[in-house]
Amino acid sequence: MMNQVKIGAFISERRKAKGWTQSQLAEKLEITDKAISKWETGRSMPDLSLFLPLCTLLDVTLNELFAGERIAEDKLKEKADEVLMDVITNWLGHDKWEFKESDTAPQNVLEVVNVSKLYETISSGHETENNSVLAVNDVSFQIPHGSFVGIMGASGSGKTTLLNLIATIDKPTNGTIRISGQDIADMPDAAAAEFRRSHLGFVFQEYNLLETLTIYENIALALTIKEVAKENIRPMIQGLSEKLNISAILDKFPYEVSGGQRQRCACARAIVLNPDIILADEPTGALDSHAARQLLDTLSMLCREYSATILMVTHDVMAASYCDRILFMEDGEIKASLNREHENKQNFFADILKKIEWIERRKMP
Ligand code: ADP
Ligand code: MG
Repeated sequence: MMNQVKIGAFISERRKAKGWTQSQLAEKLEITDKAISKWETGRSMPDLSLFLPLCTLLDVTLNELFAGERIAEDKLKEKADEVLMDVITNWLGHDKWEFKESDTAPQNVLEVVNVSKLYETISSGHETENNSVLAVNDVSFQIPHGSFVGIMGASGSGKTTLLNLIATIDKPTNGTIRISGQDIADMPDAAAAEFRRSHLGFVFQEYNLLETLTIYENIALALTIKEVAKENIRPMIQGLSEKLNISAILDKFPYEVSGGQRQRCACARAIVLNPDIILADEPTGALDSHAARQLLDTLSMLCREYSATILMVTHDVMAASYCDRILFMEDGEIKASLNREHENKQNFFADILKKIEWIERRKMP
């Protein structure tokens, strides 16, 4: 069993060894002093996203942090796997991964071929330095129908830019993007807007719902734009709402419901149009871990039961562990990828953590 008190004491000991106060460590991690004090007294655990920076700061390995103690070199492998599985099971609970069998090769919904995006910033005043940023650098990948693909990477690695290119919100400098076989890269603006409405679904962190409309009206609006017959709208929304567990809040306004409920409504609005692909940029970013898990369960359910295809940007390992495949971005490039074969979520989570650690280590001099 993972020992929160032991981990807390270990963090405290390592912090003191570095000669830092709680506030100094808090400052380095950009969090509050109170959080550090809570970890050190065993009252709470660091957020998953803080594990890697914490390891770097305290000069310990991920497994040592999980174990709450130094691990001798010769015991490393055995201890590491034991501790890691403990932690992961603690976080995600047990579950069985249902493998989707299919006898036909799935079609690619999305094809990204040698795509680059260069932002040219005009230098101000007398400066002549070149400020242009190659936000996406020669990226290629495909997404088959019905899959749930994650993009991970540090802040500034180009994830949002890549998603915006696919979303037809931005245009690539080079390369080709095809959605359901259609080339979207050099579509005129009006055609792109129409394409977006009829082929793409969005679940972003903010600006998902119109605040002046009820949840029901938000979903219905999407259907009206798609010219669905009026008498079909209510039954469609009611059926879907039950699946997404939002039936009780259909007549509320977005500001009257929780963040998690809003995001599930955004899912409903996206899937109701039967889009070719759903694009999600950090959809769990503003949610607590319980609401995040509910949203991720919802997204997986949409894949399984509605054959939705989802591309999700996230920096959260827990969120990524729900995906079938992860692409790792760094400096605008896809540097690695990871497929979930027959694995369950816990093993996949462990693999993702190891991959991130491997990428981090490779960057060190
Ligand atoms: P991420 O979503 O992974 O944090 P972004 O795609 O937002 O990364 O940014 C990738 C890089 O491109 C960053 O260096 C960022 O500063 C730059 N960038 C993003 N959008 C613009 C823009 N509109 N103009 C100029 N540079 C941009
Ligand atoms: Mg981003």
